[in-house]
Amino acid sequence: MDFTTARNRMVDSQLVSRGIKDAKVLLAMRKVPRHRFVEEALISQAHGDHPLPIGEKQTISQPYIVALMTEALELRGVERVLEIGTGSGYQTAILAELAEKVYSIERMYPLSVKARRLLDELGYLNVVLKVGDGTLGWKEEAPFDAVMVTAGSPEVPQPLVDQLAVGGRLVIPVGDRYSQSLVRVARTKEGIKKSDLGGCRFVNLVGQHGWQELE
Ligand code: SAH
Repeated sequence: MDFTTARNRMVDSQLVSRGIKDAKVLLAMRKVPRHRFVEEALISQAHGDHPLPIGEKQTISQPYIVALMTEALELRGVERVLEIGTGSGYQTAILAELAEKVYSIERMYPLSVKARRLLDELGYLNVVLKVGDGTLGWKEEAPFDAVMVTAGSPEVPQPLVDQLAVGGRLVIPVGDRYSQSLVRVARTKEGIKKSDLGGCRFVNLVGQHGWQELE
């Protein structure tokens, strides 16, 4: 089976069937070559209904979770988006398809370097990457219209809420180290509105406003 067919099957059987409706999100997931973001030995599993290891004990998220979180940001193409946890760069590429500019922070240098190379190769010019603690946000580039955190946190890091524009949306997995709920935070003139998008399981967000690193 060729990769385009594999992606179309992935979108139809895992996303459309589970209620992902945003046409632009579905189109982006049909387009971005997911197999390029996994290790060569795992290519045959790249479109499976599960996360996969990407090295450094980190994972690329399950396709459905990528779609669900992206849909929750309600992107229209004009937004400046902050992503925490670049990882493989797959989610970054999806965001780059749907927003004007993506700023993505990764704490592990080797992952960031690898993602940069691949995103360049695929022609994503509207992506800026940096290495650091994403729980502090990216003050110089704030405010952001949308923020996505792709690692699990004990709480919503306050700097990320502070750097969210009025009218902006943030999605983040919040819970304990092993299981979380996907939380959507909307910032309005009246204040903060939170909603729960369901259960999930992410690697830990490690940083000043996240978890302490395990020994
Ligand atoms: N979106 C990624 C998922 C990567 S897993 C993908 O599609 O591949 C989550 C990533 O968050 C890991 O690479 C991990 O190193 C990173 N991470 C954890 N804590 C972080 C922090 N405080 N700041 C930035 N990145 C962090």
